Amino acid sequence: MKVLVTNDDGIFAQGLWTLVKELTNIAQVVVVAPDREQSAIGTAVTLHQPLRVQKVSPLVPGVETYSVEGTPADCVILALGKLINKIDLVVSGINHGANLGDDVSISGTVGAALQGYLRGLPALAISVALGESLHLDTAAKLTLLLAKKIDRGVLPTNIFLNVNLPNLPLAKIKGAKLTRLASKSHTNTVEEGDDGKRKYYWLVRQKINKAVDEETDIWTIEQDSISITPLHTTLFNKPSPTIPDSLCSSLFQELQQ
Ligand code: MN
Repeated sequence: MKVLVTNDDGIFAQGLWTLVKELTNIAQVVVVAPDREQSAIGTAVTLHQPLRVQKVSPLVPGVETYSVEGTPADCVILALGKLINKIDLVVSGINHGANLGDDVSISGTVGAALQGYLRGLPALAISVALGESLHLDTAAKLTLLLAKKIDRGVLPTNIFLNVNLPNLPLAKIKGAKLTRLASKSHTNTVEEGDDGKRKYYWLVRQKINKAVDEETDIWTIEQDSISITPLHTTLFNKPSPTIPDSLCSSLFQELQQ
C-alpha cells in the first residue's frame, strides 16, 4: 500500500512525523507537505504563481519527502499529478488541534484530504485536540488501523473521513463513535486595534459554548471519545427545495426590464 501524507502545520510538525513513523509499519509512505504552517487556509489552491518543490531529508529514515512552497491542497494536487506514480490513500495530519463542526470549511488539514477524495482516493483528515502536551500516538495508531481496513477492502474506497481525538492517553479515551458535524459551532468576530500609525483588525474565531446534540463531533470529543465523521461534498446536489422554481424566471424577467 502506498500512502501520501500531508498536513497544514508544516513539514516539520511533530504530528506529521508521528503519523509517518506509524504508517511505515504497513505502507510505503511519501510525504508532500507545505514548507510552513498553513492552518486555516482551507481548500485554497495556488494558481497565480509557480510552485517550488524541494526534496528534503525525512525525519523518519527512508521516507521520500518533498517540501512545497504552497498550500496543503497544492501539495496533494502536485503529489498526485506529478511527484508520485500511484497512491492508494491520502492522509492529512496529525493536525495539532481539533477540526470540529464549522472548522471543516476552513481547515487546511481537511482541505488537503478533500483533494484526494475529489480524485477518487480514500482520504482521511486526522486531528488531536489541543492541550498542554499532545497525545499523538493514539491518533497515529488509529490511522494505521483505518489504513489497514481500507487496504483490505473492509471500508469503501470512496470515503472521506474527518477523524478527531481528544487529547488524552489511550487509557482515558472512552470509545469511538461515528458522528456528524456540529452546525453553527463557531463565532467569527472582529477586534480593532491601533499600532500608533494605522488601525488594524484581528479576526477572532471561537467555539460557541452551547449544548450540542449527541450525534455530533463536538459532543463526542467533549465526552472524551474519538469522533469519526464521514464527509460528503454536496455542493453539486439538486437545487434547494426551499427556493421556489419561479425565482429564476422572475429574476431573468426583471433583468430584461
Ligand atoms: Mn493545523
